Amino acid sequence: MDTPLAFPALHASHAGIWVGSIDGQVTTVGKGEAAGRAAETPMVMLNAPLVAQRLGYPDLSGLDLLELFAFVYPARFAVPTPKGMAKALGITPPTTDQEVPQFLLVAARTLLAVLDAPDWAEREGAWDAAQALMRLRWPWSNLILAQLKKPEKPERWLFSRLPEWEEAPPRTPPRVVTLGADAVQQRLASLVGGSAETRQGQRDFAQAAAEIFAPRARKGEPNMLLAEAGTGIGKTLGYLAPASLWATAADGTVWISTFTKALQRQLVREAQRIYPDYETFKSKVVVRKGRENYLCLLNLEDALQGGFAGRAAILAHLVARWAAYSNDGDMIGGDLPGWLPTLFRRNGSTALTDRRGECIYAGCPHYKKCFIERASRSSVQAEIVIANHALMMVNAARGRDELNRPSRIIFDEGHHLFDAADSMFAAALTGQETIELRRWVIGPEGKARGRRRGLSARLADVASYDEEGGLAIEMARMAAEALPGDGWLARLAEGAPSGPIERFLAAVRAMVFARDETNATEGGYGLETELADPDAAVVDAAADAAVALEALARPLTVLGQRLEAMVSDPPDWLDGSARARVEGAMASLSWRIDTVRAWISMLARAVGPVDPEFVDWHAIDRFEGREMDIGMHRRWLDPMKPVADIVLKPSHGVLATSATLRSGGDWKNAEARTGALHLDKPATHFSAISPFDYTAQAEVLIVTDIKKGDAAALAGAYAALITASGGGVLGLFTAIRRLRSTYARIADRLARDGLPLYAQHVDPIDTGTLVDIFRDDPHASLLGTDALRDGVDVPGHSLRLVIMEQIPWPRPDILHRARRLKNGGIDFDDRIIRAKMAQAFGRLIRSADDKGHFVLLSSAVPSRLLTAFPPGTPVRRVTLAEAVASVKTGLSPDEKLRQDVKISLDESNPF
Ligand code: SF4
Repeated sequence: MDTPLAFPALHASHAGIWVGSIDGQVTTVGKGEAAGRAAETPMVMLNAPLVAQRLGYPDLSGLDLLELFAFVYPARFAVPTPKGMAKALGITPPTTDQEVPQFLLVAARTLLAVLDAPDWAEREGAWDAAQALMRLRWPWSNLILAQLKKPEKPERWLFSRLPEWEEAPPRTPPRVVTLGADAVQQRLASLVGGSAETRQGQRDFAQAAAEIFAPRARKGEPNMLLAEAGTGIGKTLGYLAPASLWATAADGTVWISTFTKALQRQLVREAQRIYPDYETFKSKVVVRKGRENYLCLLNLEDALQGGFAGRAAILAHLVARWAAYSNDGDMIGGDLPGWLPTLFRRNGSTALTDRRGECIYAGCPHYKKCFIERASRSSVQAEIVIANHALMMVNAARGRDELNRPSRIIFDEGHHLFDAADSMFAAALTGQETIELRRWVIGPEGKARGRRRGLSARLADVASYDEEGGLAIEMARMAAEALPGDGWLARLAEGAPSGPIERFLAAVRAMVFARDETNATEGGYGLETELADPDAAVVDAAADAAVALEALARPLTVLGQRLEAMVSDPPDWLDGSARARVEGAMASLSWRIDTVRAWISMLARAVGPVDPEFVDWHAIDRFEGREMDIGMHRRWLDPMKPVADIVLKPSHGVLATSATLRSGGDWKNAEARTGALHLDKPATHFSAISPFDYTAQAEVLIVTDIKKGDAAALAGAYAALITASGGGVLGLFTAIRRLRSTYARIADRLARDGLPLYAQHVDPIDTGTLVDIFRDDPHASLLGTDALRDGVDVPGHSLRLVIMEQIPWPRPDILHRARRLKNGGIDFDDRIIRAKMAQAFGRLIRSADDKGHFVLLSSAVPSRLLTAFPPGTPVRRVTLAEAVASVKTGLSPDEKLRQDVKISLDESNPF
């Protein structure tokens, strides 16, 4: 069937703006004209928010091809560029910007034609979804309905077509087994594959990793191995070999925890080698993430039935299409296209997950189909669970199921354990945190949409059955009135706080303004002051706030006890599902009680002595000059202490591994950063250097003639280097402000030369998608900050130059000062800087065939920091002109020419 599509198309890049008419004419237009025409007639475009940004016209709307793709092919991957769309649809990509408008029309017709194809796999549910979307005036709906045949039978509703998970018997504890060396090597050989060359480093690594599976000698003393394996060793298969062998022989589960999504995805691919049969793979390997990653079906149902309005409601219907075809319901990093929520400016997407712990468990009509419950049940029966560091910490701290606690754990990207623990065990008594608790207890204020309810609505049956429990709920509700409510920030700014907690926050705010000495000008930086010798207003307000929080903690504790009593001596009406719901309520209640207790102890610090285990300070968080949150913060001086107690000591075997585990220091540093320092039985150590030939594959250029603080010179250097390299550049910044100013100065110029530039914090595209776009186009370059330093895995030609704008000094805040004091002053700083430089350099050479330059734009780089780079890597201090010439000619074959400093192989070098 020929598809009716009588609309023009619009394309905007940094190089210009083009409009294509339905009769094939393409004209170049200015921003004003493009915006005017788009306001008059709907136009087909790709990624409307991005086009809007290029036009400088934020209200732009139209027929976004990506939304149509999400409707036709939910849960399918596509890079959101013309080239990526062409690849996903199997059509010819445009070769110039000028060709893009006509390409968009062809792509739209191709997608609409699919609706008519008899073999369209995602047909079920499309008719009903299109009808609902038409009522919401989604621009594509009429075109879709003109093409789509009405189904003969009524379609199954999403909630009836999702499969149910099955309850399985509890798993028996693992058998005691010992892994033989030959068996480990054989398993490794079978995973690597017969034709692949044997790497001694990988074989040694597998053997060392097998030791953590030996029977534990004493309770509380796990077998712990710290293993530093340089890039290219093949450590993933190196540990999967003994892990899979043990899991099968012992009938147990090995948890593998990563920090980045990139590694999580790689692990899923590698684990398929263990279980080549897909059905077996699905039952043996489970990916687990925090519950806030998954779609909550109850929230979705609420959104579909009027809880969401406008664009958010359209997103909800596209998410419902996806949910019906999704593998696991993971909305962040799973098979939901990362770009979909950003098309809706994130409007509504977070409200579809269970972010605030409002799950009602078995009280939920979708409990038996819930993605979160399914993932959690499958992990009990799995042999390999792929998780992340944050989830491991949360489970250990708040886990409900003692029997299924991880006992054999592999922490890959182990150099990130410290940071993951640091945020997990952080406490913050701030306006944003306390208003969340108020909403959890009382319910949202005003005319808030959605299904959020207070405690009394969620536990109405408990209250009517148990008088004491009902009274506790009412007391908690009254006490929660003392917590900040809507408009608290404005009240504080006007000097009119309401209630004891707001008064405390107002006193904190005044003290921070009076004492802050950072004079912070960076957009992301807040103001802060340490909690020393607090003024009288803070002391008085802290005492009142503590009384108010005690009044809340007491009834919450009583309620927890009543629920516990109900579960241990159940009334008749407490059937299986009601019991599960009460148990769920107990879990979220005990987490809230812990939080309130932690706040009370923080307030005690405001009026009492210092606790040497913690660092406490007051802060005002700001974004682009606006105050976002105010309050008191607490971190562990060493967050690995609680990790050692609740994660490491209860386990039997732990491997912490990374290419940079020693973080540019020695083994003592690795022990401190992984928590091994706090174990009675010392951890064993293993190291293997990278097999890559860094002398031939890479070169570090330190550019000495860019003056610090000269924004124009910095941008000019980036432009010159990107042009010399022909794209393929990853540019890393330590400050968002400098990133934005560089981008603003050079993006248009580069685009006119056919070198597209993308940037985190500028383009309305999520980071994962930016990396996908970068990987897909060898001429593209990408600018970013911290998340890109360690989360980009782009082997091959797409990444051939990494530029760091300056030495990544640690942020000089109160927390850093306390840790620096405890951990050796300048050496501590050096370890952090070397670790960051090593991670950034690690993006460059991902395989034996990769080649490239690493450029550091800094006039003074102390030689002691250069051990961050792998042994043998040539390092030169050069002018910008020399660096540009080197990048242009590629790596010189004359090694002598490139080498005036060569990094020596020493014990502390991680590679
Ligand atoms: S069980 Fe909880 S998380 Fe799952 S769908 Fe229901 S309310 Fe949402």
